[in-house]
Amino acid sequence: MPIATVNPANGETIRVYDALPDDEIERRLALAAETFRTYRTTTFFERARLLQAAADLLDADRDDIARVMTTEMGKPLMAARAEAAKCAKAMRWYAEHAAELLSDEHPAAPDVEDSGAASVHVRYRPLGVVLAVMPWNFPLWQVVRFAAPALMAGNVGLLKHASNVPQTALYLEDLFRRAGFPEGCFQTLLVGSRAVEGILRDRRVAAATLTGSEPAGRSVGAIASDEVKKTVLELGGSDPYVVMPSADVAKAAQVAVTARTQNNGQSCIAAKRFIVHTDVYDEFTRLFVSGMRDLKVGDPMDENTQVGPLASEQGRTDLEELVDDAVESGATVLCGGRRPEAYAKAGWFYEPTVITDITQDMRIHLEETFGPVATLYRVSDLDEAVALANDTPFGLSSNVWTHDTAEIDRFARDIEAGGVYVNGMTASHPAFPFGGAKRSGYGRELAAHGIREFCNITTVWVGA
Ligand code: NAP
Repeated sequence: MPIATVNPANGETIRVYDALPDDEIERRLALAAETFRTYRTTTFFERARLLQAAADLLDADRDDIARVMTTEMGKPLMAARAEAAKCAKAMRWYAEHAAELLSDEHPAAPDVEDSGAASVHVRYRPLGVVLAVMPWNFPLWQVVRFAAPALMAGNVGLLKHASNVPQTALYLEDLFRRAGFPEGCFQTLLVGSRAVEGILRDRRVAAATLTGSEPAGRSVGAIASDEVKKTVLELGGSDPYVVMPSADVAKAAQVAVTARTQNNGQSCIAAKRFIVHTDVYDEFTRLFVSGMRDLKVGDPMDENTQVGPLASEQGRTDLEELVDDAVESGATVLCGGRRPEAYAKAGWFYEPTVITDITQDMRIHLEETFGPVATLYRVSDLDEAVALANDTPFGLSSNVWTHDTAEIDRFARDIEAGGVYVNGMTASHPAFPFGGAKRSGYGRELAAHGIREFCNITTVWVGA
């Protein structure tokens, strides 16, 4: 895959970048290791000052970097601005909370005494150089939610970003440099995915985090495991969205439209499978389909656009194949299911689509639909809904709409996912842990859990 900015709204290649040669990768690895030696001894106060400065710069750059993101991967401009604002917020959150999240822990006095020590404390120390392999769909946010905690913990970062967002990747390196972080604290490596193995196996790299598809996660996880290096994997999702009879059906249908089509449908935590109780199925379906039909599809630079193009031609082909396969096997398209006529020739657009009469052997039931395509199922009770919701290899997040507290409790107990969102859609927040179960990956980002993933948790035992 070339490292290039190609506008998905019209297919125009804007700029192609050369991959870094081996000697430059070596120079940057050496710089990262050298920087870590001193950066690890800085105080939380110093790191927080730098991260606050980065947040301020990002706020000032918001419009410009939003345009870059929209040009590189097609998200509506309004959403790109919101993403930049969310990143600044997460930076500030970690700048304010890291010292407390990583403060020394003191085991209970009877346990200290029982161990024969005069004192014991547990200390969170940084691991070292962390490699981040990141996807294009939230090109700022995915990186910041790794970088902010990693830098606050005293680690240094190497970013291998997706090949279609090189300008956003270079912007991030520049942002941290301008904020005052020492040279080498955060470096962008413009390299293809084949270079990842060599970098990850390098003895100066301590750990890796990957957000992306399952095949990429499997590959990076296997290499890291072979090297006995820590990893966090944030992979795909096929989140269920369950609607029960006690729900506010109109609200559930309205939010469902956003939950499915946010980021042009290319979000790991987008609701993808809509599982609706038979008592409210007809009403929900009517409102949901009409909401999906009413969305404004178009140029993502247009302030009124709600759904832009898919980020790549291949991404649209993959989505079309899933829909076509389902239709050939008997599924029914309620709306969409094709390219919009106005964009038949230019750009990688696809109409917001709702498809029903899904059977459990169809590819669309088992695979992730990474675009504005919703699958719709009718069920007769919560047990059936949960069984269907769990009938997927993925387990990232989940949504349920109900005002029955017993149902909420059972759903939260039985669903196989890393998140449960009740009467709302899944959205990440710096203060809450984020991550998946099953093939959606392992480890957590954000909150205390995220910042501790890349720490050497050290027991300091002092004899009497
Ligand atoms: P992708 O193709 O897996 O790419 C992600 C990153 O991995 C890119 O930097 C890519 O580099 C690199 N990569 C791909 N194959 C690799 C390999 N074999 N070894 C090492 N690196 C490799 O995924 P994507 O299409 O960019 O992103 C979409 C996927 O990410 C979806 O499945 C989505 O659900 C998932 N996602 C998950 C989360 C989460 O938090 N769980 C969040 C966002 C997205 P190149 O670009 O150079 O190929």
